Amino acid sequence: MDLTLVRRDKNFEEKNGSIYTEGSLTHELAHASSMYQGYVTPDKQSSYTPRVGFCLPQNNTPWGWLLEEGWADLHRGEYFAKYATEEQKKRIEAVMKFGSLNLDDTVPITTPNGDILPLPIKYLYLTENGDLTTKSSAYAGYILELLCRKDPTLYPTLRQARGSVEGLRKLSTQIDRISPSLYSFLQSSDYTEKDFSGRLQKVISRLFLDVRTLIKGPKGLQETWDRLLRTKEGN
Ligand SMILES: [Zn+2]
Repeated sequence: MDLTLVRRDKNFEEKNGSIYTEGSLTHELAHASSMYQGYVTPDKQSSYTPRVGFCLPQNNTPWGWLLEEGWADLHRGEYFAKYATEEQKKRIEAVMKFGSLNLDDTVPITTPNGDILPLPIKYLYLTENGDLTTKSSAYAGYILELLCRKDPTLYPTLRQARGSVEGLRKLSTQIDRISPSLYSFLQSSDYTEKDFSGRLQKVISRLFLDVRTLIKGPKGLQETWDRLLRTKEGN
């Protein structure tokens, strides 16, 4: 039907404001639509499979693939950073207790693999109990951000890769130029928090060597990071 339906969750909206639902909608609308996966020419002589997100024609839809989920969540994060009201932002600051925050400041997240990884605040939201949490796709969104930081010409290629096979070929070459075999490493992941966060950990250690280069935030948040990383190194 080429239609996106998002159910409004009263509890999450109460905690976060309507930005929570708007963010979910932005994520879903950014995904490729399988509506256009196949079509037949008017003379019925040939059929085509146009592009559906980051996958090749005749593949399945790229549902749950890291690049596809990353693309969608990158837009959810961008939407939050651009449209969250001061009041909505303050709800997160009240839980973090580090004073005024920038939405690109990085929060330490303990992943299911036991790693402590940074995620920008724009990817986080509050649960019904008022705790900060995130979604598996957020790790993928941040991976795309980090790749674009390494190669600022990547964003237009990501966009191009969703619309043409040439674009997708260009994307795989460009990502592999950042780090050899990185494209297939990213595209072969499972759609779980454990796997996506594991890929983020690998991307950080391969491309940035030290997680400290990615830490942003006010003094209190930086000190929390220092403490966490020192404890981890001590173990
Ligand atoms: Zn998604």
